[in-house]
Amino acid sequence: MSNLIYVDNNATTQVSKEVLDAMLPYFKDKYGNPSSLHSFGGEVKKDIDRARDKIAQFIGAKSSEIYFTSCGTESDNTALMGAIKANPNKKKIITSKVEHPAVKNVCEEWGRLGYNVVEIGVDLNGAINMEELENSLSDDVAIVSIMWANNETGVLFPIDKIAKLVKSRGIIFHTDAVQAVGKVPIDVSKVPVDMLSLSGHKIHAPKGVGVLYVREGVKINPLLLGGHQESGLRAGTENVPYIVGLGKACEILNEDFDIRTKKIEKLRNRLESEIVKLCPDTNVNGKGQARLCNTANISFQFIEGESMLLLLNEKGICASSGSACSSGSLEPSHVLRAMNMSFTKIHGSIRFSLSHYNTDEDIDYVIKHMPPIVERLRSISPFV
Ligand code: PLP
Repeated sequence: MSNLIYVDNNATTQVSKEVLDAMLPYFKDKYGNPSSLHSFGGEVKKDIDRARDKIAQFIGAKSSEIYFTSCGTESDNTALMGAIKANPNKKKIITSKVEHPAVKNVCEEWGRLGYNVVEIGVDLNGAINMEELENSLSDDVAIVSIMWANNETGVLFPIDKIAKLVKSRGIIFHTDAVQAVGKVPIDVSKVPVDMLSLSGHKIHAPKGVGVLYVREGVKINPLLLGGHQESGLRAGTENVPYIVGLGKACEILNEDFDIRTKKIEKLRNRLESEIVKLCPDTNVNGKGQARLCNTANISFQFIEGESMLLLLNEKGICASSGSACSSGSLEPSHVLRAMNMSFTKIHGSIRFSLSHYNTDEDIDYVIKHMPPIVERLRSISPFV
């Protein structure tokens, strides 16, 4: 598409040129198997460990606490299943009502298997109910899994506070930080999470690579059985190019974090305030809370999010009406439902999510095209 305005970066991001360049030799020349005993493979093993070091440095971990996986979903599944299987006598799981399906569906499956799954609620702004969380903690909890940042609204949970609370009861705590990494500072040497998931394709590395951080001393069972890779926690020959790419993406973020996030937040704030100003009966979801710098989830009352997406698409604008995983179904978002929003606000919600590749011109373009689209759809809406 000639005039593509990509504001759907919570769905996925563009692979950066530096990341692509770093990956290319591993498709062609450096194709050795890192588990081989010859030095051709051994060199590749060293490159994987260099990537591990960069990721560890970026999140304040030790290199030995970084385990490569195939995606954020696998990291989440490994954390949950691994902790549940390692603690067979504990039959309770605590999570929130607004998790990504990579956590939510795993918890629901264990619920069907007879586990007591407690989903902690959120308020109208998306803030987690800390009292409910505190009251639900008990000795039979195998794991608490609560996301760092919500993929639909960008609302941040107070993970430091939650981790300290859960750890004070001696319970394993996992956080899905797939949307938080690269957008908020993360330092696991200060925040006592036991496990943390991240994904390459949300931070300008390719799709199909992720990391599970597991704090030293935390015991979980592996999800995949097979070879001894990743210290026996994740079998399967390593996806070397993608791992190197993810290492590069974290190295760049380590250098550019402040500049990038400030730029993105400024663009996001302008987009949000102009749209709300120019389009009546509109509100920003989660606005009362600390939020990711790049996400604007806006409800346009009396019109359908999907119709807006189609008209935006005609103008070359890529946005989303919920998480990418739930698009394609017209099921209202479980996140916005958990926030107790009205039917018309849920159905009229659009998520814009920015990256540092967005420009002032991109934002001007969206601001120019949004009001006529809203006006046109409202003129034919049965709800107005
Ligand atoms: N968790 C969150 C919060 C996400 O937003 C996503 C992807 O959108 C995932 C997990 C899954 O990550 P992946 O696409 O790498 O499997």
